[in-house]
Amino acid sequence: MKIGDSAGLSDPGRVRRRNEDSFVVAPPLFVVADGMGGAQAGEIASRLAVTAFREYHAADRLEPEARLRAIVQEANRRIHSRASSDPRASGMGTTVTAVLTTGSRAAIAHVGDSRAYRLRDGTLEQLTEDHSLVADLVRSGRLTREEAEIHPQRSVITRALGTDAAVRVDSFSVDLRAGDVFLICSDGLTTMVGDEEVVRTLAAASGVAAAARSLVQAANEAGGEDNVTVVLFAVEEGDPDDEDTLSGLRLPPEATAPAAPLPAAPSVGDGAGRRVSKAFLLVALVLVLFGLSRAHFVGAAENGRIAVYQGVPWTVAGVDLYREVYVSSLLAVQLGPGERAALFDHDLSSEAAALARIRAYELEASLESP
Ligand code: CA
Repeated sequence: MKIGDSAGLSDPGRVRRRNEDSFVVAPPLFVVADGMGGAQAGEIASRLAVTAFREYHAADRLEPEARLRAIVQEANRRIHSRASSDPRASGMGTTVTAVLTTGSRAAIAHVGDSRAYRLRDGTLEQLTEDHSLVADLVRSGRLTREEAEIHPQRSVITRALGTDAAVRVDSFSVDLRAGDVFLICSDGLTTMVGDEEVVRTLAAASGVAAAARSLVQAANEAGGEDNVTVVLFAVEEGDPDDEDTLSGLRLPPEATAPAAPLPAAPSVGDGAGRRVSKAFLLVALVLVLFGLSRAHFVGAAENGRIAVYQGVPWTVAGVDLYREVYVSSLLAVQLGPGERAALFDHDLSSEAAALARIRAYELEASLESP
């Protein structure tokens, strides 16, 4: 197999002034990084991540997955060291989702909630698992996928590059088939545009460059609440042009390939819809009427810090059913998976009880690093 056309596009969206996303389109390597942190920190973090990929030279004999993992670890070291030495960059981090193809395989390395998808025979398959608060809650049966999609903390990630000296990286490989289209994107696309619309958009576009533009446009038309980044590549029959995949990369970051028709008109399956069911709205309203004033829950603020909210953890029809009452200095990513599962169970309680649960972790953290 070889890589056919490829394209990448990033847009700040309609709400944010800055674009904290970065990407690489350098076949056979494709990367998306979504930075977070105050002021310019998010941009610095995601740029440091993609720079680590750009600078990488294949002087080693590592297998593709191991290579990607090594680059992600190097990126993590750089971001963490910068965050530790530069007060303006303190607490910054980034997601990273990287795909490296070799022959008939694609190696994927992943941290955070950017995603890689494979469109095959009209079916869009999410290849990566989000490292996010809501994904944890869905996995443990606490939230449905529909609830997760409208959850106010859906952008809070539980793993990131740069927030710790060590990072756990997911890596795996999938096969390539002629006609496959791969999509790598930041959550600014997936929180705004549902799977079915992604499939429809890819089918209707005249090529990957046009498809990238249409997807960014769809995210903006849906509100454009976040930076949106889309990287696409098509797989064709043939031999890879360059066997030595990562050596001497020359990377124009905005490189886009000329338009070419996308394969096979896909049919839309019964993927996860984004509509809020009437029943769900009713349940939410009832909850608001009967419990909003006294209910509290533990969640995480937009900057990833653990927080206590009054209300119930949903945004329904654009209305937040909660408000922030306390934000801790502790980051959600600083907790272990078990601790997070226990803390973010979304059980409703009194404000005092919710605060007490957070304070226990704050005390522990202060004892660990006096
Ligand atoms: Ca984002």
